[in-house]
Amino acid sequence: MHNIEKNLARVHTLIKQAAQQAGRDPNEIRLLAVSKTKPVADIEVAYRAGQRDFGENYLQEAEQKIAALPHSDMIWHYIGPIQSNKTRSIAEHFDWVHSVDRLKIARRLSEQRPSDLPPLNILLQVNIDREASKAGIDVDEIDELADLIEPLPGLRLRGLMSIPARRENPAQQHQPFARMRTALHALQVRHPHCDSLSMGMSGDMQAAIAEGSTLVRIGTAIFGARDYPNPDPT
Ligand SMILES: *Cc1c(COP(=O)(O)O)cnc(C)c1O
Repeated sequence: MHNIEKNLARVHTLIKQAAQQAGRDPNEIRLLAVSKTKPVADIEVAYRAGQRDFGENYLQEAEQKIAALPHSDMIWHYIGPIQSNKTRSIAEHFDWVHSVDRLKIARRLSEQRPSDLPPLNILLQVNIDREASKAGIDVDEIDELADLIEPLPGLRLRGLMSIPARRENPAQQHQPFARMRTALHALQVRHPHCDSLSMGMSGDMQAAIAEGSTLVRIGTAIFGARDYPNPDPT
């Protein structure tokens, strides 16, 4: 079996175990395969193994891959930083955007979403550890931005995303994820259809699932180490 297939199977097992330990239904957790820096051939292997959701950070690279892959049932998630001159292509090519943290970007995505496509699924990126190096809003800014994004016709607000500071010790990984869960619950009071919490990567997916993640973003554990350094994900 190809490594990617094996890795995918292993990640599915980890998700299932983490869900069961937390008393959650494993089907509540969607696996996003983060394919940034990886070739189309690797994505194709994952697709043939049943993977449908793919995440990319770099727009130009993503555009090329999406054009090269013929499968209409792939679901593309944009998880990288967004410059305002790049919104049109994101609105045209993706199904989800995890990294929205400004109204200006949201407005452009809504205006530029092609009318023959369903609304673009949006997550607000929260800088849960308030790191200067990372994008995202503070928890106390969620309500205001959510209220402004909600009415935009080209978008559908689905929840929150976060990339906590790296913590090697698994016991310490829970706390920022727990704060994100609380933030989602608070958001659901005014926006009850918000059902998604994008959190957990290769190094911390178990803690994220224990704290309520519905969308884990996994790169290394599926595709192996990346060949060229990835700037700190934002
Ligand atoms: C690269 C990246 C991931 C995947 O990270 P791994 O540690 O390789 O699983 C997840 N989320 C974001 C935003 C990323 O940039």
